[in-house]
Formats: sequence, structure tokens, C-alpha cells
Amino acid sequence: MKRLFVFLILPLTLIAQKTVPFDQYFLDRTLRIDYYHIGDKINEWVTLDKLYKEGPWAGSTTNLIDTFNNGKYYIKIYDEQSEKLIYSRGFNSYFGEYQTTAAAKNGIKQTFHESALIPYPINSITFTLSARNQDNKLSRIFSTKIDPSDSTLITKHSRLSQVDTIRILHNRPAHNAVDLALLAEGYTSNEYDKSVADFKHFAKVLFKHKPFAGNRQKFNIYGVFYPSDESGCDEPTHDTYKNTALNTTFNSMGSPRYLLTEDNKALHDIGRHVPYDQLLIMVNQQRYGGGGIYNFYLTFTSNNEWRDYVFIHEFGHAFAGLADEYYSSSTAYDAFYSTQMEPVEPNITALLDPNVLKWRHLVNENTPIPTPWSKQLYDSLNNSYQKNRREYNNRIALMERQRAPQEEIDRLKKEAHKVNQRVQSRLDSIINNSTYSHDIGAFEGAGYVSEGLYRPMMDCIMFSKGRKPFCRVCEAAINDIIDFYTGQ
Ligand SMILES: [Zn+2]
Repeated sequence: MKRLFVFLILPLTLIAQKTVPFDQYFLDRTLRIDYYHIGDKINEWVTLDKLYKEGPWAGSTTNLIDTFNNGKYYIKIYDEQSEKLIYSRGFNSYFGEYQTTAAAKNGIKQTFHESALIPYPINSITFTLSARNQDNKLSRIFSTKIDPSDSTLITKHSRLSQVDTIRILHNRPAHNAVDLALLAEGYTSNEYDKSVADFKHFAKVLFKHKPFAGNRQKFNIYGVFYPSDESGCDEPTHDTYKNTALNTTFNSMGSPRYLLTEDNKALHDIGRHVPYDQLLIMVNQQRYGGGGIYNFYLTFTSNNEWRDYVFIHEFGHAFAGLADEYYSSSTAYDAFYSTQMEPVEPNITALLDPNVLKWRHLVNENTPIPTPWSKQLYDSLNNSYQKNRREYNNRIALMERQRAPQEEIDRLKKEAHKVNQRVQSRLDSIINNSTYSHDIGAFEGAGYVSEGLYRPMMDCIMFSKGRKPFCRVCEAAINDIIDFYTGQ
């Protein structure tokens, strides 16, 4: 009798904790909370900047509490009077990445601007920001009260006259859709038509990949055009600087291919012209590069040969909080993940206890854990290729800085691309000819380290370059996020 009682009560309690009645706490508008995030590896501070009343709320009205437990940070909103948690969201940030660099380790403090978007509260709220500590547990680093009716505190601004918005794909109301805002960056007013063609191209590319392919009807995609004064973006190692709408730059945090912007205010001032769940910055550039930060933004270049791959790979980071599964390319980070602690991302593991592998339910019982693969062979080929690639990049950068004739630079770029493609196809064939090449297991080498972190399958678009699918663990993680946004 007692057991039956527990069985009946428990599910109701769980439902009560998860559900927040939207209409009781929120209006169908967006509150944008801008703040500064300051610090080094050890210390961090948050100071409030400005608050804005923006357009309709784009997110789900049923899934208000983020239960993924992913991201280095979480914003949590409490109803001030009842102290009930009414909204939460996990994310990563530029500051979070900066904390892993050598400069931050040496105590150099930097300031980054960030925005939190929440549904517009009816009554006073407590806005809090939590960060993961050394044990990956969230602890509160900032808290402030916000009265949504205080018009001296909350700014409203009108449309920017130069912004043009284009509906690329529209299937359903924002609350039940994944709403993507594609922002044109480094396109001049003369390049408007090119930006529209590029928006359409990338929308098409997205739905060529599983699991997006089967979920097209759940997406809305908007193009947002704000003309840049000049074409392209900043390339510090080439001594090239451009005036662009969103101020993106290569060489972010010292990595040549890492393309980010610190101009968070411009990004949100332009992005706010459409309802969005994710901001995607499309940079009018030929060079290889991009970046994707979970629930923050992503960038990719629109004229490079690898553009489709970079777009999908960065979308995996920004949309589903997937980790990089590769470990051999150079990055700006200094020990990004600890091998002594289980990472929060759904697609890499420290395998501290093989019996509780987080994707265990997807593993065939005959597959050994960890799973053997031709790592030595792969590493030897890949290491020499990475060295080669760095040399090519340095030579190209030098020629650009010296303003060498364009035909010579183009010839070298072509040669680099050919070598790149040849090695990638040899790497692909090593993977495709392995015993467990199509199985889910735990393959050593992931998250920027060769040993101590494991990925779910031998190959994945989060692991290597090319026209390839997400591994089945990444695919499942993406499906969960689609369900979250669409209120399922
Ligand atoms: Zn994967």
C-alpha cells in the first residue's frame, strides 16, 4: 500500500516543479538585460549596464526552466515575492572562454559585454547569474532586483531605419518554433542581393543535415541586413581592418581561424529586429574560420570552400552546446576541460566510470568501452598535416601583410586547399576502414586532448572536417533541444 502511494504522488511532484504558468508571470515581450562581465581566471565580477523592453518573446512558453545542465553559466530568474524559480537558461560566453587563456591565468583582467534575454516579467524579479566552480557545480556570482514597471530603468528604442529583415523560412508561431536570425556582417549596401542569396544558401544547407532535415517544419529563419561600410572583416595577422556592422575579427584570443565579435551591443541592437532563439553571424569573407558559443552566438565565413562544414559545426556548438570532439588542431585554450571531472557537454566524457557512460543506452552490448581505434596511425598523419597547415597559414599571412600580388596569394591558397583536401580524405579512409567505424562507443581523443577524454563515435562533424553527419549522440542531443524550443 505504501509503495503504491509513493508511486502515485511522485510524478505529480515532478510535474509541479517543471511547469511555470507563463501568463501568471510574464507578458509576451522580451526583457533584455545587458551587463558587463569582468575578470581573470580566478576572479569575476558582474555589473549591470542597461535594460531594454524589446519585441515579442521568441522562446517557448511551456519550457521556461532549462533542465539540460549544460554551459558554464546559468541565468536564473525568481519571482521576487514568492522566490519561485520562473525562468532559467544555461550558456557559455566569450568571457568564459577568455578565462581558459594564458593571459587570464596570469591575472590579466578583461571586460566583456553580455546580454540575457528573458520573457518580460509582470512583477518584480530577482535576476541572478551563476557560474560553475571547480567541481562543475553552479554557484551564484551576481544577483539584483528588477522592477519591470520602472520606466526610468528600462529603455525602449525604435527600429533602426537601415535594417532590412527578410523571411527566409516561416512555418509556425515563434513560441513553438526554433527561430534563427541570420545576420549579414561585412556586406555593403551594394552587396544586399548577395546577402539574400547567401541567407538562402545556408538555410538550405541546414536542412541537408540530420536531424534538421526531418524537422524543417519546426524552424523559422530570418535574414537581418544592416549595411557595413566595407566588405569583409578584420584580419589582424594580415594587417587588414574593416568598418563593419558587427565588428567581427579573426585571430580572436590569438587563434588565426577564430572569428568572433566583442561588440555585443551592436549584435543585439541589430538582431532585435526579428524574434530569435539563436544569433548566426554570416561574415562576407573568403578566409576559413568561424566560432560558436552555446546560447551566445556563432560566426562563419560565407565565401570559403569549407563554408557549409563550418556553418553546421558551429551551429552544433551554439545551438546544442556540443563540445569539440577533435583534439589535434591548435586552439587558444589552456586545458579547456579537466580529465579528472566529467564535462557537462553531452558528446564528450572523461569516462571516470565506464558503467555510467552518459550515452550508455545507445551503445551495443558487444562494443568494448573504451573502444579501440587506429589512433596511432591517425595521429601520425594528422600531426604532420597540422604542422603543414600552420606553415601555409603563416606564409599566406606574411604575403598578405607584405601586400604581395593577389595572383601569388591566390595560388598559395589554392595549393593549401588541395593539400588540405587530400589529407582529409586519407584521414577519412582510416576511419571508414576501422572495425568500429559505425558503432557508438567511447573513442579516446576529444575536447582538445589526446588522452583522458572520449568521444561517442569515431567520426562526427564535431570531430573532423568535411561533408559528414553528426554522430548519433550529437544527433540525439540536437533533437532534445529542438523539442525544448518547440514546447514538447
Ligand atoms: Zn558527435
